Amino acid sequence: MNKEQLKINLDKILNEVSKSKQSDAELIAVTKYVDIKVMEALYELGVRHFGENRAHEFLKKKEYFADKPDIQWHFIGRLQRRPVKDIINHIDYFHALDRISLAKEINKRAERIIPCFLQINISEESQKAGFGVNEVQAVVEELAEYEKICIIGLMTMAPYDISEKELHEIFVTLKELQSKVQALGLPHAPCKKVSMGMSQDYQIALEEGSNYIRVGQAIYEDVLIEEE
Ligand SMILES: *Cc1c(COP(=O)(O)O)cnc(C)c1O
Repeated sequence: MNKEQLKINLDKILNEVSKSKQSDAELIAVTKYVDIKVMEALYELGVRHFGENRAHEFLKKKEYFADKPDIQWHFIGRLQRRPVKDIINHIDYFHALDRISLAKEINKRAERIIPCFLQINISEESQKAGFGVNEVQAVVEELAEYEKICIIGLMTMAPYDISEKELHEIFVTLKELQSKVQALGLPHAPCKKVSMGMSQDYQIALEEGSNYIRVGQAIYEDVLIEEE
């Protein structure tokens, strides 16, 4: 691992955040690609928000860092129903609440209120997970009866092959939707945050008001060189 390069990459992103309109946005370092060593280096560099998307890997890593309670663990990827019981009481934030059946399982297994982002499929690509824009209000209202779920915000993933203009449109749409849900004033859905922006598009997401950017590849560029 090239630690100097890791620091350069991280500093570049943090610098962009602090110079953006959304200077208080939080960087979630997506660590699904990397091992414990790289995560330790990130921790030493001050990173406290880690994002994982596989249940087993997440549990292993969380256990390793058990002596570092200041880490915030974000579960970011599609979650099947079966592993919910294993992970749900070990995460700080869940970014991918994308269907009611999953909400049901979380509600059944959680031992405390879980801060969740509803995943929205803005571009309505059929292969992408998430609720459609027009369903959101009904879904939010339905989730009122799930007492272990707190909707703290909305999350989206933009498609890879679209123009900058289209990226702006997607992020603006998510932000507007978040404001609408927030304005409903529902106790179980304060919905003050948006989780949007990945390596390819976090600068645009910051321009459109992202609160959490979830960045992986851009942090590790030229860092993960083979060791002799
Ligand atoms: C992998 C992943 C990311 C990070 O993507 P990069 O392109 O590596 O920055 C962000 N969000 C989700 C949901 C992911 O699965």
